[in-house]
Amino acid sequence: MCGIVGVRSKRGVHLSRLITVLQGLQHRGQEASGFVGITVDGREVGFKDLGLVSDVFRRYGHDPILRVAIAHTRYSTHGETYRPENVQPFVGFIDGRMIALVHNGNLTNYTYLRQELEREGVIFRSTSDSEAILLLYAKETGEPDERLKKLSERLEGAWTVLMIDGDRIVAFRDPYGFRPLWMGREGEDVWFASEDSALRSADIEVVEEVGIGKGYVVGEGLKPFTVGKKLSLPCSFELVYFARPDSNIFGRSVYEWRLRAGEILAKVDEVEADVVVPVPDSGTIYAIGYSGVSGVPFQMGLIRSHYVGRSFIQPSQDMRRRTVRSKLFPVPFVLRGQRVVLVDDSLVRGTTMREIVRMVREAGAREVHVRIGSPPVISPCYFGIDTPTKEELAAARMSLEEIGRFIEADSVLYLPLDEYKRNMENFCVSCFTGRYPVRVPNVQP
Ligand code: SF4
Repeated sequence: MCGIVGVRSKRGVHLSRLITVLQGLQHRGQEASGFVGITVDGREVGFKDLGLVSDVFRRYGHDPILRVAIAHTRYSTHGETYRPENVQPFVGFIDGRMIALVHNGNLTNYTYLRQELEREGVIFRSTSDSEAILLLYAKETGEPDERLKKLSERLEGAWTVLMIDGDRIVAFRDPYGFRPLWMGREGEDVWFASEDSALRSADIEVVEEVGIGKGYVVGEGLKPFTVGKKLSLPCSFELVYFARPDSNIFGRSVYEWRLRAGEILAKVDEVEADVVVPVPDSGTIYAIGYSGVSGVPFQMGLIRSHYVGRSFIQPSQDMRRRTVRSKLFPVPFVLRGQRVVLVDDSLVRGTTMREIVRMVREAGAREVHVRIGSPPVISPCYFGIDTPTKEELAAARMSLEEIGRFIEADSVLYLPLDEYKRNMENFCVSCFTGRYPVRVPNVQP
C-alpha cells in the first residue's frame, strides 16, 4: 500500500504544499518517501530517501516552486524493503523530456514482464514492479493516454499511477480499480491524491474520485480518457483498515462502513460483557458501532501513543511485536475486574492481538472476548497488501477455537463472511474467500 500525490500548477506551488498533502497519506506507508518535479523556471528537481515524509523532506531542506510534481510515501509490497533504489518516484527521459512515475498497487505479471524486458536488453535499476511500468510506458508511442491504453492490455493487477510526462501530469486508475485516486482543484491548479481526506485537510477542493479504468492528462487543459476493458474490483480492505476514517473510498464513507460493521457484529454476538474497548485507532469506530447496538458501554481501555507507527505496515514481525507494547498502553481503571469485549478491524497474523490480549489481562481484565470487524483473512493479497504467504495468516492454518487459544482470548468472533460479501458487492474480497477473479501467481482464477 502506498500514498501518491500529484499537482499541475499554472502559477507554481511550493513543495511544502505538496508535502502537506503527502503527510495526509502517511498512514498508507511509512518506509520511504520522495518527490520529483519541474520548477516554474524549468529546473528538474527531486529527492527520495528512507523514512517518514517529514524526516525525508527535512533532509532535503529546500522549498522550490513547482509547475508539475508527483510524490510518494511507500509501504513495500514488491521489491525488497529498505532498498533505497526501490524508493519512488522512478524517473527517466524520452527525447529529452522527463517522465516519472509513482505507483500504488502490485502487478501480478511483473516477473513475466521483467523477463521479457530483460530479454530485449533493458536494464532494471531496482527490484520494483513500478519501474517496469515506467519502462513499458517509455517503449510505447503516442500521447500519454494512448500509451496507457496500450499498457492496460499488458499489465495485470493493481496499478493506480501518477506520472509526469514533460510538463503534463498523467493520472490513471487501472481497469480493476483496486486502489483509490481522487482529483482536486485549487484555483487553476489540478491536484491528485490517493484519498480525498488528504486533499480536504490541505484546503484543496475535492472534485471527484477518478473512475475505474479512467484517467486524465493535465497540461494546458484537462483531457479525460477511458480504457475499454473494465473489471470493477476495488479493494474492500481499504474500507476495513487502510483508508483514513474521514475518507470516502469507492463511493463509500469509510467511517460509515466501520460503524455499520461494528453494529452487525454486535447483532450476531451473544457474549455477556461489562465494557467495549477498541484497539485504537483501527478498531475504534467498529467498537462505537458495537457498543451502540449491544448497549455495553464504550471505554478507551487502551491508549495509543501517536508517536509510534502502525504495527501492521511495519515490515518485519519482530518490529511489529516490539512496536505493540511501545504504542498501546492499557488503562487499569477501565479494565480491572471487567469482562472486556476487545474490538479490532481485522486479524491477520494474530501475534499483535495476542500481545494486546496479554496486556489487557495484565491490567486486571477478568475476561477478554476478541471481536473482529471483518471476516477471517485466509488467503494472501496479490494486489498491494503485504500478506505474502498463507502460512503467516492465522485463519488459514487454525480453526476459530485454535485462534482463540493462540491469541489467549476467552472467545473470538469475526464478522460473518456472508454479511461482508452482501455489503461488498463488486468489491475484491479475495483475501477472505481465497478465490481470485484475475490470474495471480500459483493460483488459478
Ligand atoms: S485480496 Fe484483500 S487486500 Fe487484496 S485487494 Fe483484494 S480485498 Fe484488498
